[in-house]
Amino acid sequence: MRIGDVSFWYADIGLPYRRAALAGDRTADVAIIGAGYTGLWTAYYLKQAMPSLDVLVIEKDFAGFGASGRNGGWLTGGFAWNHARYLETSTEHGVRAMVEAMNGTVDEVIRVAGAEGIDADIQRTDELLVATKPAQVGRMQAEIAHRRHWGEDGRVFEMSARDLSDRIRIPGALGAMVVTNVARIQPAKLVRGLARTVERLGVRIVEGTTVTGYEPGVVSTDHGTVQAPVILRCTEGFTADLPGRKREWLPMNSAQIATEPLPQAIWDRIGWQGHEILGDFANAYCYCQRTREGRITVGARGVPYRYGSSLDINGAPDPETIRRLTAILHRHFPAARSAKIDHAWCGVLGVPRDWCATVGLDPVTGLGWAGGYVGVGVSTSNLAGRTLADLTLARDTDLVHLPWVNRRVRDWEPEPFRWLGVHGMYALLNAADRREDRPGAGPSKLAALGNWLSGRH
Ligand SMILES: Cc1cc2nc3c(=O)[nH]c(=O)nc-3n(C[C@H](O)[C@H](O)[C@H](O)COP(=O)(O)OP(=O)(O)OC[C@H]3O[C@@H](n4cnc5c(N)ncnc54)[C@H](O)[C@@H]3O)c2cc1C
Repeated sequence: MRIGDVSFWYADIGLPYRRAALAGDRTADVAIIGAGYTGLWTAYYLKQAMPSLDVLVIEKDFAGFGASGRNGGWLTGGFAWNHARYLETSTEHGVRAMVEAMNGTVDEVIRVAGAEGIDADIQRTDELLVATKPAQVGRMQAEIAHRRHWGEDGRVFEMSARDLSDRIRIPGALGAMVVTNVARIQPAKLVRGLARTVERLGVRIVEGTTVTGYEPGVVSTDHGTVQAPVILRCTEGFTADLPGRKREWLPMNSAQIATEPLPQAIWDRIGWQGHEILGDFANAYCYCQRTREGRITVGARGVPYRYGSSLDINGAPDPETIRRLTAILHRHFPAARSAKIDHAWCGVLGVPRDWCATVGLDPVTGLGWAGGYVGVGVSTSNLAGRTLADLTLARDTDLVHLPWVNRRVRDWEPEPFRWLGVHGMYALLNAADRREDRPGAGPSKLAALGNWLSGRH
């Protein structure tokens, strides 16, 4: 089994060639820190709107090194967490407009991939979130009602266990929430394709160049300084490594495994012909995909958070995390029990204190940011990129009035409270799942306590 090496997605396509580092001091109209989806989508829409703009993307490793090259490949257009949180700074109408804009990201990503010739193994499909315990059924129905209330009634519905088994056979499934109009992707192919596309449009990407600090008008790196009137921070889960940003977004770890390609005989037992993206309603939920070449990937939180917001380097999960992911694989897909695990890896995503994504730009300082997508960044980063482009160009579009724009959220607590809060939350969520596994058990109150502890609900 390969462990780390950034992700399976790069084992699939090969690690990219390295672009040159910044060659000393220079200027740009817009400097973007971080070459993941957020930075690259922003660069893309800026160049679409104004081809003459001098856009420079500064990347410490290589384009797609972060979560954008490691994720589960769920392109969902959904909200990360509780829609109602945005009511604190908006109206019901504003939140519904954002739901609609989010949903639209699926079509937009697929449109651009098609127009720019980006092959990312994109397959339009449904999202299936399966309930396997009575307590999970209650959670599923509440989630369906919640999403429908916020305007997703046209694309979210409940599916019976019987209908589900026509699509995929999950032992003990009692039903599923279906979300239509989503897609499965190969994440590293998307980010690699985006990087090539923006370069073709004239954006400069410098790699192996670490930003060590920034202030209005100037970005400092280990290879020189960049003077730019607009500086956009697109570093999501890595943000805590930037000076003064330690407590802004918690770097949350998520890990995955990929099996070897499964033979047809196993697929015949599992079903899953529609390549739906598949997850569950456990409190410590999982996310899975069937890859282009017939592997199963399973993802879930590993070691959820490292003390002091420290980051791993190469995406290597610990043995206990790999064991837990393998147990999920065997539970949901017993037919794949004999399959070899080819790869295990992990990465970081950004979690704001209120678990709600934000995007913004201060017109006075020229400093902007986007992120905190809480695990739903594949689609949200596209909306963020379009919005950051509009903010940068001072365009008064509908996007710049959505409730997540220029939303300020308080920092996370200092250590050891941050570590205790997150680890406490996951210990409670896991304990709640164990309780809900007991025959006849209802929803465990431990999950509610865990979510409250971390501010998730
Ligand atoms: C394991 C995992 C599974 C996930 N699964 C899904 C999923 O299925 N669906 C979904 O919607 N979302 C998922 N996510 C979340 C999603 O992948 C991210 O939210 C999204 O990719 C964030 O994109 P980004 O460009 O903002 O950040 P990143 O892709 O993390 O890019 C940030 C970039 O900034 C660079 N950088 C950092 N610091 C510096 C510095 N000082 N100087 C220069 N460059 C710097 C990094 O090297 C990196 O390339 C998952 C995340 C993880 C980790």
